[in-house]
Amino acid sequence: MRRREFIAGLGGTVVRNAATRMRTMERAYMEAYEGGCACGEVRYRAMTMPLLSLHCQCRDCQRITGAGHASMMVFRASKVRLTGSLVYYETQASSGNVGSRGVCARCRSFVMAKSSGYPDVLWLTAGSLDEPGRFKPSCVVFAHSGHGWDYTDPTLTVFPQMPPSK
Ligand SMILES: [Zn+2]
Ligand SMILES: [Zn+2]
Repeated sequence: MRRREFIAGLGGTVVRNAATRMRTMERAYMEAYEGGCACGEVRYRAMTMPLLSLHCQCRDCQRITGAGHASMMVFRASKVRLTGSLVYYETQASSGNVGSRGVCARCRSFVMAKSSGYPDVLWLTAGSLDEPGRFKPSCVVFAHSGHGWDYTDPTLTVFPQMPPSK
């Protein structure tokens, strides 16, 4: 009897811990990624976790940011709500895909990007997040056009080009 009570009690603890863990995971999952441009015209809300977070050192990102790379998060497009007026600038990638970078029509902040080759996803810029500290990059892409002065975390996975998607 005593032993059965002990086991039942233990079971309860395990179930409670699992429930707490699920609630924590749900909260992390449900906490939207929100952000926007410098002037407030463009706002976005991504109700999902990023599929991938990266630094892109391609020449187009360098030119549009004026820096060594763009820091971006990839989201499932259907989970992102964008409001406000954007102007798009298109570039032809070496893969043949057309890349489209969206800047605010008013303040010209670089907020988002999309590619004809990946119609189900869109990229949001890490610097436009309301809480940029939530950006957790895992890799560097197009590192072949990166520069020595654009130092990135050596623990990140480095791809000379864009890694092939499955
Ligand atoms: Zn703006
Ligand atoms: Zn790029």
